[in-house]
Amino acid sequence: MKILIKNGTVVTLGQKNRVLKNHSLLIEDDKIAKIAPTNSMDNIEVDKTIIAHGKVIMPGFINTHMHYYSSMARGLYKVAPSYNFQEVLDNLWWKLDRKLSLEDSYYSAMIANISAIKHGTTTIIDHHASPFAIRGSLAKIASSVKECGLRANLCYELSDRDGEKIALEGIEENAAFIRQCQTDNDPQLRAMFGMHASFTIGQETLKKATKVIHQLGAGVHIHCAEDLSDQIRTVKEHGTRVVERLFKAELLGEKTILAHGIHLNEHELHLIMESRSNVVINPQSNMNNAVGVTNLIKMSELDINVGLGTDAMTLNMLEELRSALWINKLTQKNPSIGFMETTNALIHGNRNIANIFWKEFGLGELKAGAAADIVLMDYHSPTPFTEDSFLGHLIFGLSQEWVDTTIASGKVLMENKKLTMIDEEQVMAKAQEACARLWDKF
Ligand SMILES: [Zn+2]
Repeated sequence: MKILIKNGTVVTLGQKNRVLKNHSLLIEDDKIAKIAPTNSMDNIEVDKTIIAHGKVIMPGFINTHMHYYSSMARGLYKVAPSYNFQEVLDNLWWKLDRKLSLEDSYYSAMIANISAIKHGTTTIIDHHASPFAIRGSLAKIASSVKECGLRANLCYELSDRDGEKIALEGIEENAAFIRQCQTDNDPQLRAMFGMHASFTIGQETLKKATKVIHQLGAGVHIHCAEDLSDQIRTVKEHGTRVVERLFKAELLGEKTILAHGIHLNEHELHLIMESRSNVVINPQSNMNNAVGVTNLIKMSELDINVGLGTDAMTLNMLEELRSALWINKLTQKNPSIGFMETTNALIHGNRNIANIFWKEFGLGELKAGAAADIVLMDYHSPTPFTEDSFLGHLIFGLSQEWVDTTIASGKVLMENKKLTMIDEEQVMAKAQEACARLWDKF
């Protein structure tokens, strides 16, 4: 299958971003075969042509911290008000996830995956919880990912909060799905070992999980110091701070994702830096839960790889990018801070993280040989659009425009703003039925 994306403005991103006007991009099967000036590609025979005039051609966006399972919380009014982070968990998330069935997990993923396609997000690193329907939950979510044509890295969030039996099931679900992924090597699916957070994982469970993680050579995806209470409880119960605890358990490393990383001290930041662990910031979620702000500037100074996630607040990575920038400026009380750090998190941090798991796929960059994960966005630039001005356009211009076409693994998932593989109305009708049953349990 050959698809020609004809005559648009190609923004390559990658290590050295290039803005190439009047260029075309040739896809062969699941890879990018060639990027060249339009007139040099005129005579190529292809199966399909997509006209990209008036459009910017970019790599698909990557979301490095997401929770599919939260999709059915939208509009849930039967929730008591929460006055701190623990109450947010008790009143909403832990109440919701305990009620999820396997079918709910599937439809939750469908809801989010459809939104991802519409916003040009082609790779998602998810963190799942459904403590009373654990076994097979990751396979259910994986089936939605396959159906929607996206890429996802899945894990189950291990926790002791529902007792030992459920914790053991959490370990088993992670291990089973990691093994399955290692055997299948499906280019759309990857796995990590998920952990909720230090404050809900006891020492015995941590030990058991660590053994499995090391046996399987898996990466760890964990919430880290999202709220100060994670530190307080970890110090009280284990006599050590959160990152130190992970370090002692030998769970830090370049395959580790520490989500949030808000309440960290100097020593912990150095442990993260030295172990080359990744931090993923989620600014909108942090503002919504009023837990604090990650010190992105300090992390960037230490050369820590920082990615940008959404913690399920949105699948629109440009919305999250803008939020990251505003909150950093406000926190530092400096209107010229954070521009490079936040855009780096989206463009470079997320690319680095994705390519740890999808080695040699070249995700997050348009170049010959890379995976054909591509978005076309409407954009008639009112001011010069060059490598030098691109980041300003991304934040203030492109973020306000529409994604027109989304392609992943060389498959067109949305064209002219219409989904090609999924009947959205039908899926949402089914999701509403599942959701009504779920809400009845509240
Ligand atoms: Zn999260």
